[in-house]
Amino acid sequence: MSEEPPPRLDEQLPQIRSRLARASDLLVCLDFDGTLAPIVDEPDEATPLEANERALSELVAEPTVSTAIVSGRSLPDVRNRIDEADAYAGNHGLELARSGAVSVHPIARKRAASIDEVCSALEPVLSPVPGSRIENKRLTATVHTRNVPEPLRPIVHRRTTTILDRFGDDELELSRGKRVLEIGPAIPWGKGNAVELIASGLPDDAATVYVGDDVTDESAFRVVEPAGIGVRVGADDPSAASCRVRSPTDVVSFLQWLGSAGVDLIEQSGRRDETPVDPPRAYPSRGQIDLEYFPKSRDG
Ligand SMILES: [Mg+2]
Repeated sequence: MSEEPPPRLDEQLPQIRSRLARASDLLVCLDFDGTLAPIVDEPDEATPLEANERALSELVAEPTVSTAIVSGRSLPDVRNRIDEADAYAGNHGLELARSGAVSVHPIARKRAASIDEVCSALEPVLSPVPGSRIENKRLTATVHTRNVPEPLRPIVHRRTTTILDRFGDDELELSRGKRVLEIGPAIPWGKGNAVELIASGLPDDAATVYVGDDVTDESAFRVVEPAGIGVRVGADDPSAASCRVRSPTDVVSFLQWLGSAGVDLIEQSGRRDETPVDPPRAYPSRGQIDLEYFPKSRDG
């Protein structure tokens, strides 16, 4: 990952066009908060920009395009906020919904009880800190610090670490996002793995686009680049993405562009290619989606 922020998306359009012109299909993966929806002080109130919802619907309607929402929110939470996408990954990829089937990472499922215990233990030590909030998302938990006064944030971090230490390093781990602390199972599985899994149902010459704004999106950028296109939302963060846009409003423009010019490029590429694409739809059928896609649990 470069220390410099990636170049602006409009400066990278020639490269993006040439990648799409070689692709038979397009998979568009989108983070939710800070990408489709502006960041708000109260996470419960986050809603996607209407124009992003419309642009997503248009992409969903294209036969050469598949769509996925990849979020740190729980699956039911994110699906309540935006529907229509072909696939959903919740809890940073630990749960997947595709073609009517839901699968959960088996180790994460086993550690859900520990997440519950951590949340209960955190409640009394964090409730005196003004503005802090613990969100139990079953497979992971989030400690929100956006509304915590700046000088008190280290206290939240310290107390959370202390509680987490009781569960041992190999059980749960802590990671930081934008104004959040994320507690999840200590397993090497993130948004990038979920994107890989979703993309595995596509033909080899499909292109994958991933748009996201936070640290947890970096694993997905690393998976899609350099064959696909990673777009980091935000002004100046270094990133593994090859280009950036400033805000969810800019995401609207990019999705609209993908739905028109992007789809044209892919269709032209399909007409040049005489080999029939099989299967024509991007996602595996229901029976193929199962826990076999997840790594086997070490502890059983
Ligand atoms: Mg985000």
